[in-house]
Amino acid sequence: MNEPHQIKDFSLYPEGEKKMQWAWMRMPVLRRLLEEHCKSKALRGVRVGICLHLEAKTALLASTLEELGAEVSITSSNPLTTQDDVAAALTKRVSHVYSWYNETVEEYNENLQRIVDQRPNIIVDDGGDLGALLHQKNMTETVIGGTEETTTGVLRYRAMQKDNTLKFPVIAVNNAKSKRIFDNKYGSGQSVVDAILRTTNMLVAGKNVVIIGYGWVGRGIAQRFRGLGSKVIISEVDPFSAFEAHLDGLDVMRVKDAAKVGDIFITATGNYRVLTREHFLVMKDGAILANAGHFDVEVDVNTLKDMAKACRNVRKNVDEYVLPNDKKLYLLAEGRLVNIAAGDGHPIEIMDLSFATQLLSILYLNEKRSLEPKVYDVPEEVDKEVIFGKLKSEAIQVDELSDEQKEYLTKWKI
Ligand code: NAD
Ligand code: SAH
Repeated sequence: MNEPHQIKDFSLYPEGEKKMQWAWMRMPVLRRLLEEHCKSKALRGVRVGICLHLEAKTALLASTLEELGAEVSITSSNPLTTQDDVAAALTKRVSHVYSWYNETVEEYNENLQRIVDQRPNIIVDDGGDLGALLHQKNMTETVIGGTEETTTGVLRYRAMQKDNTLKFPVIAVNNAKSKRIFDNKYGSGQSVVDAILRTTNMLVAGKNVVIIGYGWVGRGIAQRFRGLGSKVIISEVDPFSAFEAHLDGLDVMRVKDAAKVGDIFITATGNYRVLTREHFLVMKDGAILANAGHFDVEVDVNTLKDMAKACRNVRKNVDEYVLPNDKKLYLLAEGRLVNIAAGDGHPIEIMDLSFATQLLSILYLNEKRSLEPKVYDVPEEVDKEVIFGKLKSEAIQVDELSDEQKEYLTKWKI
């Protein structure tokens, strides 16, 4: 194994600390939670193992946990998403940092193993890789529970529960209202657009943008591209989501038809090989391919590599593939999540909500300790605490039901 990533001369990497401080000013919900819980050191003696995209907002969740008394070890959930300057600065704030930008798959797995070797009590997962490794290695006995950040990870933990292999309780942070609505929809909406713009520097107004998958993530991306003047086309397998896209005023087509007309393609399904050979062959010369779903298998990168006559990098995070028909396709960020691998991920204010939900779920797991090994929803009080915290910080007021209205809503006789 290589030595863990510990950059000794911190003065060479001043930007990481600055990035964290910039983000911290815009994370009022997490800040308030730290203030509220830091005296009690609620996580004293608890080893927390984290596998999340390691950039500034994540670093602030990690350092908040350490300030609450936890011994934190952290690695990234994606070989391309660690920001090295942030990782360097974080070594000053938490116990163990095992991650760097552009890891090989082998290094990625070694770093996950390093978290497992810390024998964590609570894990924070994004996609289920850390939980899966703990189970495969039979090293779950120290774990009192975990939290899961994203849709695909929740599906994987549910599959483990169904198999009767799940050995600890997991809170599906992804499924909290304040996560799924704001993070998956509005976070992905802004950050996917941002990453495509900064990666390609292309005009998107007037372009045909094909979005495959009209779930939370796809809807957010569609809304933002539409606002920029793109012609948005949706491909779906779910008839309800397809019709919803139609009612939202968008064109709906099968992928094989959309493949012929798209200028920019974005996958957002969490599925496998949704753009593959038959689609690549009919695409326009110069089409852009990007993925916003979980793994780098939605755009079938292996097939694209196999069929290409030539491949070269033409710009940071843009690879050109020349097909046998001489058309050129441009793949962004190697088919990994474009918004995180080629951008800063979701905006700060969004991650404030997601990570406040993470923190409260971790405190809940630590307090309960003996939950059954199942996948749990985020407790309603946690969801409410996060959203009311956010509304308060923005001075947004909401109405309350009167007693008379509450009663009216429970009666069947009018
Ligand atoms: P979702 O379940 O709400 O939506 C997925 C949609 O894709 C569904 O409507 C489904 O019918 C559709 N779909 C599935 N297979 C398809 C296919 N072959 N062709 C067309 N449509 C298909 O899930 P979500 O919350 O929108 O998440 C989608 C993916 O994005 C997941 O992998 C999730 O982990 C990931 N995610 C990414 C980010 C990010 O930052 N980029 C943020 C949150 C979630
Ligand atoms: N493990 C996969 C899956 C990531 S899915 C991978 O790394 O490729 C995307 C998840 O990343 C979302 O649920 C979202 O909450 C999280 N995310 C988005 N922007 C982020 C950011 N700036 N920092 C940390 N996590 C982020």
